[in-house]
Amino acid sequence: MTYANELISRLASAHDLEDSELLYLLKTRSDETDAALCSAARAETDKIFGRAVYIRGLIEFTNICKNNCYYCGIRRENGNVGRYRLDKSSILECCRSGYEAGFRTFVLQGGEDPYYTDDVLCGIVSGIKENYPDCAVTLSVGERSYESYKRLFDAGADRYLLRHETADTGHYRRLHPQDMSFENRMDCLQELKRIGYQTGCGFMVGSPYQTDEDIVKDLRFIKSFQPEMVGIGPFIPHSETPFAHMEQGSAEKTVFLLSIIRLLLPMVLLPATTALGTADRDGRINGILHGANVVMPNLSPQNVRALYTLYDNKLYSGAEAAECRAQLDDSLRPYGFYTVAARGDSPMTHPLSSG
Ligand code: SAM
Repeated sequence: MTYANELISRLASAHDLEDSELLYLLKTRSDETDAALCSAARAETDKIFGRAVYIRGLIEFTNICKNNCYYCGIRRENGNVGRYRLDKSSILECCRSGYEAGFRTFVLQGGEDPYYTDDVLCGIVSGIKENYPDCAVTLSVGERSYESYKRLFDAGADRYLLRHETADTGHYRRLHPQDMSFENRMDCLQELKRIGYQTGCGFMVGSPYQTDEDIVKDLRFIKSFQPEMVGIGPFIPHSETPFAHMEQGSAEKTVFLLSIIRLLLPMVLLPATTALGTADRDGRINGILHGANVVMPNLSPQNVRALYTLYDNKLYSGAEAAECRAQLDDSLRPYGFYTVAARGDSPMTHPLSSG
């Protein structure tokens, strides 16, 4: 048995490794270690979730953002994107069509758009919960105050996705302008968890200046934070950002990391992200084979989908589109996977039978 294989079997049984061991796996990544990790991670996923894949209807409800992250296509200073925001009735219409298609989780994601005050956003969340009481609402609207997170939770929001982006302060500074703060983002994550949200963190794989040492810090943070969800996807450059000419992150490294994360946190809800599907046409199924168990097809109105351009060539049609659930099912079936019309709560906080 090679040293790498020994590490993988220890990771699969102990669900942890030393930082230096994680670094070794990253630095020596090969087709062989990938295959060993992939089969251990999928076996772990099968043990807990079987072959079920949870679906979330993603509603990208505003591309207006007050922030200026260097990597993001909807950053404030990009003057070449048509901006839009959806009102409550359009969002409810997205939920109606999503509900019909079998979605029982709606993810409201958007830029940090000041139009969505607590009153406005709480009205939207409670409107969804009144109309679809059997559905979960996930928010992904960036950094807000503790009071705001609490009000949204009390209005009915169940989950919150806030990628930490990087667990290294120096790396954070190279990805964000001075008016944004690593400490604030990390504090937000702690507050979300304290309030009682099923909380998700995550990072881009291959973001500019990222080292394998940074990734080990990300993995260590994830292991200690114990999130219910982790979102990772390759960095993909956007032509209208300061990182336009930076190299794209690797889909192969992303799926390798999905397997490591599955083994570090066996019960985590782990999406095969749109960015992964964009970077590699087989990315989504490859992600699921590596231990992902969530997909988030797009439920936004057709006329705005092309405007939520976080990165170039972003997918939003075919099996990435919520109205094409049958196509998604067809793409999963040959591998023995199937989508389920269920809330798909975290087994860390809810018993798995909770429909
Ligand atoms: N504004 C919210 C926030 O900051 O959490 C949610 C929306 S934000 C656009 C969602 C995620 O998109 C970010 O956390 C980031 O990791 C990812 N993202 C942004 N630009 C990207 C790019 N160029 N390539 C890949 N992912 C990107």
